[in-house]
Amino acid sequence: MRSFADDNLAPIGDRLPADHLSPIGERSPSLAQFLALVRRAFRDLPQDWRDLCADVDIRVADAALPAATEPWEHADRDVLGSYCRRRYQPPTIWLYRTPILAFASDHSLPLAAVVEMVLIHEAAHHGGMTDTEMFCIEQGVL
Ligand SMILES: [Zn+2]
Repeated sequence: MRSFADDNLAPIGDRLPADHLSPIGERSPSLAQFLALVRRAFRDLPQDWRDLCADVDIRVADAALPAATEPWEHADRDVLGSYCRRRYQPPTIWLYRTPILAFASDHSLPLAAVVEMVLIHEAAHHGGMTDTEMFCIEQGVL
């Protein structure tokens, strides 16, 4: 069984400097810093969510490939993450670095918070929730 914690990704270092919250431009976080944020977001999930995702491959790409967004009509650059379950492959959560950086910048949100939001959203898909169900929970309807 693979788990994100076992992946050969950049280890979490010391806390990132405050200026990593300005994600676009010369001070954009490196891929290693971004991976550290993803790893930290995963470790901050409640234990039952981490258990739920124990068999999930969590990966980072700069942006979604067109094939990853086939079911949707968003432009690739607008997709922050995706969840993919295919036969004979481990379920995979993708986090798309460039759109996440842009989203955090556009909404003046801490990058770590956006990474966490996307990870939780995609993990909820792994748990069987649909976008509609998540939207209803966010709106207080469910
Ligand atoms: Zn979704």
